[in-house]
Order: sequence, then structure tokens, then C-alpha cells
Amino acid sequence: MNKGLLFVLTGASSVGKKDIRDRLLGDEQLHLNYSISMTTRPKRGEEVDGRDYYFVNHEAFAQALRNRELLEYTEFDGYYYGTPKHQVDFLLNSGKNVMVEVEAQGVGQIKLQYPDALCVFVEPESMEELEKQIMLRYRDDAASAQRRISKALVELELSSLFRHTVKNTDVDAAYEEIRRLLDEHMRERGNKA
Ligand code: 5GP
Repeated sequence: MNKGLLFVLTGASSVGKKDIRDRLLGDEQLHLNYSISMTTRPKRGEEVDGRDYYFVNHEAFAQALRNRELLEYTEFDGYYYGTPKHQVDFLLNSGKNVMVEVEAQGVGQIKLQYPDALCVFVEPESMEELEKQIMLRYRDDAASAQRRISKALVELELSSLFRHTVKNTDVDAAYEEIRRLLDEHMRERGNKA
């Protein structure tokens, strides 16, 4: 049995990764399984534990790190985020395709362990547009918005390291472009698509 494909979606905060992710996950032909991250960030809005994230305290996160249970991890805006390794390996080894959504600095750690992962960097229409989105989404927390904007500037610098970048001027077009890339990759590797 072929191992599944590991697909890594990355890009700055508020660039629209979640909308693209949901479109891709809803596409039954892609057979994508979402890898749920672990985070110390508190739940926001409608988020559900075990669906959007595994919400854990610092102690549980540190324990997972100590036990080498995380494929990669990062600190973002004062909170920790990490990808549970067992889940990803289990799915890949069962021939399932896996999608992870991480900020750009996590990608290097993933590539070291899974060199044939398909990584796609989502770019904003412009930095001005991205700033607007971040300010809007975090209007109740100006300090967090500023930190996310600073981080986005650094992340955008990393985009040149990616072979595949997709500009998110329109979510449908971005989804179609990524879908094509996935389709191509899956066919090359003999995965289900
Ligand atoms: P948010 O707090 O907005 O849900 O996520 C903040 C950032 O962390 C986003 O850019 C998101 O893609 C990223 N992120 C979520 N889970 C992980 C993870 O497991 N690892 C890494 N490196 N980044 C993550």
C-alpha cells in the first residue's frame, strides 16, 4: 500500500488559510484527513475541543514535548501550538492523505522529517489588505493584532523559500489552484485523488 500524502498549508495569520482549508476538506475527491493541532491558546468563539484544536494547558503541552509526541511546534502570540505526530503517522501509514495547517516556521521541522510533503504558502493580496484583515479580526485586542502583523511581516519573507505559493485574492480561485497542485502530486505518487 502506498503511504498517504502529507499536505502542509501555511501562510500568515488571517490570510484565509481556514477558508481554503475548509474548502479542501469538504472536497471528497481529495480524501484529505485534517490533523488537529494541540494548543495552549484559549478557545475562541465557536471553536470545539477535538475538532478545531486540542485545547490543553501548559503542563500537558510540555509533557507532549518531553515525550517527543509532537512532529513540530511553535510559539505564537504567547501560546504554544504543535502537531501530534502519532495521528499523522498513523494516517499516512494507513495510506490516508493528511493535511496540516501551520504557521510558516513549523514547515521546516516538518520537511526535515517528511521531505516529500507538499507545502503550499498562501500569500495575501497585499500587506495592506492583510493588516486590514488582522485589525478587523482582532479589533478587541489591539496588542494581539499588532503582534500578528509583525509576525506576518516575518512570515511573508519566508514565502520565497516555498516552491508553491498561491495568492489569496479570491478564495475560490485559491482553492482551485491548490486543488490542481494536490491532484497533480497525488497522481505522480499514485495516491487516491
Ligand atoms: P490561531 O490562533 O489563529 O488559530 O493560529 C495562529 C497561527 O498558528 C496560525 O497561523 C495557524 O496556522 C498556526 N498553527 C495552528 N496550529 C499549528 C501547529 O500545530 N503548529 C504550528 N507551527 N502552527 C500552527
